[in-house]
Amino acid sequence: MKKATRQHTKEHNRILVLKTIFDHPSISRAEIARTTGLTRTTVTDIVAALLDEELVTEIGVGESQGGKSPILLSLAENSRFLLSLDLSHSEFRGAVINLRGEILATACLPVEGRSGEEALDLVYQILDQLIEAGFRPLVGIGVGTPGLVNSPEGVVIQAVNLDWENLPLASLLQERYGLPVRVLNDSQAAAMGEYTYGHGHLAEGNLVVINARHGLGAGIILNGRLFPGDGGGAGEIGHVVVQEAGSLCRCGNYGCLETVASVQGVIQKVKELAPGSIRSRDSGMQDEASLDAIVQAYTAGDPQVKQIVSDSARYMGLAISGLVGVLNIQKILISGDMTHFGDAWLQAVREAVSQHSFSRLVTETHIDVGQLGKDSILLGASAVLISHYSLLFRREMASEPL
Ligand SMILES: [Zn+2]
Repeated sequence: MKKATRQHTKEHNRILVLKTIFDHPSISRAEIARTTGLTRTTVTDIVAALLDEELVTEIGVGESQGGKSPILLSLAENSRFLLSLDLSHSEFRGAVINLRGEILATACLPVEGRSGEEALDLVYQILDQLIEAGFRPLVGIGVGTPGLVNSPEGVVIQAVNLDWENLPLASLLQERYGLPVRVLNDSQAAAMGEYTYGHGHLAEGNLVVINARHGLGAGIILNGRLFPGDGGGAGEIGHVVVQEAGSLCRCGNYGCLETVASVQGVIQKVKELAPGSIRSRDSGMQDEASLDAIVQAYTAGDPQVKQIVSDSARYMGLAISGLVGVLNIQKILISGDMTHFGDAWLQAVREAVSQHSFSRLVTETHIDVGQLGKDSILLGASAVLISHYSLLFRREMASEPL
């Protein structure tokens, strides 16, 4: 028992030191000891092990604080690589990402309506391409997928567009590639990405990211950790009914938030109510092209399109005011293609939040567009792999290279 506790403390200290090095561009052993409260000897021993693992490097000498100039340490950002997938768009994207969240290689394949096994095959093709790029060692695979996800088990419970139901995605990928796999909902991944790699977020802080793209969802970070909810569905606001006599949603219900405030919802409304406002060059026009045309019509002041887009902002604002009332989180970011509607749309969202919230709560609430653009899901899915650090140590990594 005693031994187990000692081992536990050792592991805890090692992660604490590594986290401190992650959080600084460069840092000396003495500063690590000050920041963590560990003794110099403990820090020196742990750093020696991290240097041996090649996770950390010595990068030069810092300024002397009176005595000998200290040696500065830095994370060896290219000592491990993460594979990441974003399955939320009309093309699947994958990337090789280093420990500082830099994207080093990408692979994309259009989905073109594929679902079920065929969609899964696209996932394999992208991963095969990324692995061929030759970055080693690989820590694991992070996946951001649309739909309801049981993250602890790595199972996609339901992703309507991809026709996946109870798909054990993590174990399928783990078996095929021999790497640890983490699967999470795309909006939750976007929140992890913005929180980990965006600027100005407090450690242990709170954040809500509304991911408004083809579908719509939110990711909630509480005290620096992703809040999944009891069934993994925290933030599934896209299927909350906001219009009782509204349009049919892909979930089978009518008038979900998604039908009025997502890209798909807006495109559908424009096609129904203002078909003349976008030149439909062909009926099979992709979401991206339709959205571009609608953004242009909105910017040019087309009254019908303006009405539809203003409605989308109003419903988005209503949904956010619900979150503000429940959580009182003061930092809210919107990511995804709906942000292409720009400042006027964002301002309309803010106004709707003000109108529908308790004013004392809303004065300190800040609603902005996310900082990472289309990379938030990729970065968030990879961030999950390093969030507990333990996967970075060699004995935890795949023993046989691929
Ligand atoms: Zn729905």
